Amino acid sequence: MGARIQLTTELRRKDFLGCNYRPSHPVIRPPWAISESDFQELCTGCNACIDRCPTSILKKARGGYPIVVFDNDQCTFCGGCAEVCKPRALRREEGNPPWTLVASVNASCLSSAGVTCRICGDYCDARAIAFKLAVGGKATPVIERSLCTGCGACIAPCPVRAIRIQ
Ligand code: SF4
Ligand code: SF4
Ligand code: SF4
Repeated sequence: MGARIQLTTELRRKDFLGCNYRPSHPVIRPPWAISESDFQELCTGCNACIDRCPTSILKKARGGYPIVVFDNDQCTFCGGCAEVCKPRALRREEGNPPWTLVASVNASCLSSAGVTCRICGDYCDARAIAFKLAVGGKATPVIERSLCTGCGACIAPCPVRAIRIQ
């Protein structure tokens, strides 16, 4: 019984130790992260990647591990985070893509209500967002998965936060 209470306490301590950000949806590890189980094995929660990120999109989350939060900026794929990751939990190697994540638009997009908005398209350097014209003058954003890099540049500017990276 005593051991069980101690284990629970330890888990709680680990969960909340240094945790500044608690996401409400599946977490995104920094680019070039190795498999989740190996990542948790190797990452020491040292903060080096977080401190290095020029766009400040890396945050310390549950367990002390870093995650990507696109609330204010995007990933430029500069590689800085992987460069400073000593335990190699982030591993940038030849032919190894940063991730396979892409953006998707949900039903709260203003175009669903007939409002004209093309902000996300303006921010997409990869030109992965096209606007499909529909009856009634609506123009719905459609993400071309083969072009989307998952950089997240379209997320923060969206006035209703209708875009997620998945
Ligand atoms: S690649 Fe650069 S911009 Fe992207 S998370 Fe790493 S340090 Fe930040
Ligand atoms: S910025 Fe947001 S609301 Fe505007 S078109 Fe894009 S997804 Fe829709
Ligand atoms: S995540 Fe980046 S590449 Fe993909 S649609 Fe958004 S801005 Fe374009």
